[in-house]
Amino acid sequence: MTPAERAEQITRYRNMVQGDPEDDLAQFRLGQALMEDGQYAEAVASFERTLVLSPGFSRVFQYLGDCLIKEGRKEKAVEVLTRGWTVADERGDRLPRDAMGKLLTSLDAPIPAPAAPKVEDDGTDTGFKCHRPGCMEGKRAKPLAVTPLPDAIGVRILRDVCSACWTMWLKDLSIKVINELRLDLSSDFGQGEYDRHMREFLGFEDEPKA
Ligand SMILES: [Zn+2]
Repeated sequence: MTPAERAEQITRYRNMVQGDPEDDLAQFRLGQALMEDGQYAEAVASFERTLVLSPGFSRVFQYLGDCLIKEGRKEKAVEVLTRGWTVADERGDRLPRDAMGKLLTSLDAPIPAPAAPKVEDDGTDTGFKCHRPGCMEGKRAKPLAVTPLPDAIGVRILRDVCSACWTMWLKDLSIKVINELRLDLSSDFGQGEYDRHMREFLGFEDEPKA
């Protein structure tokens, strides 16, 4: 992304946030864009506001902690990351939890004790394991019948994600993402943002774009 594109992105999200101060997703994306631009103090303010709107949004703690570290505010970073780690652990958000664990370790701070694992055994075992962080299906997880998307990511979804998680994305969260971020899916920007949110939800951040 060029500096001009970055500036345009920041302006875009700033306008969205001004238009709807309750829009947690736009507030989060503004924070991310500011962070990527090195504007840490402003990013901190955006992430803090996001957490007021959406206290269980575990990834925000991770980014907020990271910005605080870059600002040299270590004590505050430890406080935020410790709280965020617990929130992420309770919600089963494995990727942000582990990222925050690493940041805490880098600050010589202890990682909190994990909550007791949930018992998910109700006798049914489909033999399929869903790899989406935060999946609540456990042994009841059922695979999708067909590849949900025509490209490589569809193959990965079929292999790694259960039908309940995919349905949750498709019927609920994808619509929230499109509406709240006002994405135009016919544009490269809109499609890119959509993909990014879908990958985050599915826990696919480790694999580069196909
Ligand atoms: Zn699942």
